This record gives sequence, structure tokens and C-alpha cells, in this order.
Amino acid sequence: MLRVGVNGYGTIGKRVADAVRAQPDMRVHGVAKRRPEYVTIGAAEKEYPVYVVEADRADEFREIGIEPAGTIDELVAESDVIIDATPSGVGTENRPLYERHDTPAIFQGGEAATVAEVSFNARANYADAEAAEYVRVVSCNTTGLSRLVAPLEERYGIDKARVTLIRRGGDPDQIDRGPINDAVPDPVTIPSHHGPDVQTIFPEIDIDTIGLKVPTTNMHVHAVNVTLEREPGDEQQVRDLLGGEDRLVTIPDYTDIDGAGTLKDFALDAGRPRGDIWENCIWEESITLRGRDLYCMQAIHQEADVVPENVDAVRALTGTVSGPASRALTNESLGMCFGRIRDRDDLTADRQTAD
Ligand code: NAD
Repeated sequence: MLRVGVNGYGTIGKRVADAVRAQPDMRVHGVAKRRPEYVTIGAAEKEYPVYVVEADRADEFREIGIEPAGTIDELVAESDVIIDATPSGVGTENRPLYERHDTPAIFQGGEAATVAEVSFNARANYADAEAAEYVRVVSCNTTGLSRLVAPLEERYGIDKARVTLIRRGGDPDQIDRGPINDAVPDPVTIPSHHGPDVQTIFPEIDIDTIGLKVPTTNMHVHAVNVTLEREPGDEQQVRDLLGGEDRLVTIPDYTDIDGAGTLKDFALDAGRPRGDIWENCIWEESITLRGRDLYCMQAIHQEADVVPENVDAVRALTGTVSGPASRALTNESLGMCFGRIRDRDDLTADRQTAD
């Protein structure tokens, strides 16, 4: 049973901890917190051992009835792997701490790629992380793009990819983010950093990205145009290819899921924890082929899609199982892939055949 420590228990860290807990081959050894705020109370209620980042603040935790399990140094020393989900830039500052204790670590997409030997996506380059000590799970947008690009590159080859990223202004808990009444080029320069970030996973791919921010906290939406090297037989072939991928869900027209809001509502109805959507959601009707040019639109839940990738990164780093086996185990343990849409899709196909 792998002991996983989570340093930085916020939006990503708390989700990753719950996902680790759901796995049969790993457990949460503890989570590190700086302050005893509401998320810390949530961690204690879930009975995660809480380690303090600043030892001299331990009494602040005791005052609200949380007895610290130890210090961050102890968490790092006792864990087989650390998942660092601290704010952007802090992970890089933390790396010497992990080196000191000889504990492999997983960083997040807010860090520069140089923080780790490998930038990681479970679908695209799991094997590269098997020999590594430090990996970086790429950002939510880069994860979403990598999952889409991987099967297209394998099946048809990619001549070039051009993607417009319509990004959520902030997460629901980020009261200081925006815009609240605008659509803002962000960054105004082209390409945005996302294209080069995809190239940390696919160095050969010609990809440019344009970024905007809009007033929503729900999800990002990507408008994608990929020029393939080889022309697919027809649109349906591409729909089947994408629909057959374990972390891509194609959203059929009949569901009336017409945006990120209805997607989140669907996820809540489906009983997803925190309404999380771990998969890319591609509107099936948007998958359009014009010769070698493929178009589609996909929604990416920024708080959730990197979560299964972190779980797989733990197995990759520790060399316990192969990539496909890890992905299957993660998917099954989390209950991924919106079976109801898939099942209903099958039902619709049956009905059409019967008609
Ligand atoms: P967050 O602010 O929600 O959570 C970070 C947590 O780390 C907070 O609880 C904070 O108190 C704590 N923290 C701050 N300094 C610390 C320190 N020195 N030691 C230990 N804990 C510390 O941030 P987040 O959104 O979860 O982002 C974490 C990382 O994940 C970043 O690299 C970010 O770029 C990346 N990421 C975020 C998203 C997203 O949409 N939120 C998506 C993908 C990747």
C-alpha cells in the first residue's frame, strides 16, 4: 500500500486526496496545511492526518480541536510519494524539501516545466515517468488538449493544431478573480503559454493556442481545429475514435447538455463528488470534418481533470503497474466516464436499429 502525502490541500489537493483514498493500492498518509481554515476542518472531518507546514502555528490547529499529526518534514519523510498541490511557484520552492528526504514528488501545472524531469499526461507519456523521481502533471488545459491530441496523432498524424481557449475567470472560491462583465484576451499575445506547454508532452506537434478569459467559474471551453496528416474516412470514424477513449466523453445532442452549466448540473445529478468532471466533454455534434481539417468543441473542468492524472503519476513514479493498467484502475475506482450517457447512447442505437 503506497503512502501518499499531499502538500497543499486546496482546490486540487483536496480532490487528489479523495481520489487517492478511493484507490485499492494507495492511501493518504497525511495532508499538510498552513492554516486551520474551512478546508482544514474538512480534512479533519475526513480523518486525514493533518500535518502543519509552519510548526509554530500548531496551537492554532489545536484551538479548533485538530491535533496535528506532525510537521511537513515528517510528512515528507514518512511518505512514499508527495503530491505537491501548493499554489503556482511554491512547488518549485518546495523541491529541496523533497530532495532532502529523498522522497519522489509530483508537481502541478502551475510550476515551470523545469521543476521536474517529466511533464506528465497518463494517456500520452506514462512510461516516461517510470524512470523519474519528479514529475509535473500538466495544467488543466494542457491535460485536456493532450488527451485529445494523443489519439488523433496516433491514428491520423497531426499537421497542425490551432486552438482557442475560452477560460473560466476563476474557481468558485477565488473571489478576487475575474472578469465579472467582459471577455478579455488573456494573454493578448499569441500563442498563449498553453501551446508550448502541450509541446512539453508532444515536442513534435505544431500547435498554437489563443486564450481569453470570461465571467464563469464553471469550466474552460476549447474551440479546436486540427489539420490531420491523413484524411479520416468520415466524421463518424473520428467520433468513434474519440468516443472510445477512456477519458473523453462525447456528449450526444439528445441530452440537451448545451453548455458548461448543464454539464455541471448533469455531474451533480450523477452524484459526482463536488460535481467534478474528470473527463474531457466533447460535444458530439461539434465534431466536424472538412477534408483533413477536424473541428470540435470541448469543455474541461479545471478543478477536476488533473485529478486522475495525479493518481496515475503516483503509480508511474513508483513503477507499480503499466500505464493502461493504472488508468483502468483509476477510472474504475473513481467511477469515471458517465455510464448513463454511454448506456443511453447504446439504447438510442438499439432503438434506431429496431425502427
Ligand atoms: P489553491 O490555492 O486552491 O490551493 C493551494 C493550497 O496550498 C491552499 O490550501 C494554500 O493554503 C496551500 N499553501 C500555500 N502555501 C503553502 C505552502 N508553502 N505549503 C503548503 N501548503 C501551502 O490552489 P490550486 O488551485 O489547488 O492550485 C494548486 C496547483 O495546481 C497550482 O500549481 C495550479 O496551477 C495547479 N492547477 C490548478 C487548477 C485549478 O483550476 N485550480 C487546475 C489545474 C492545475
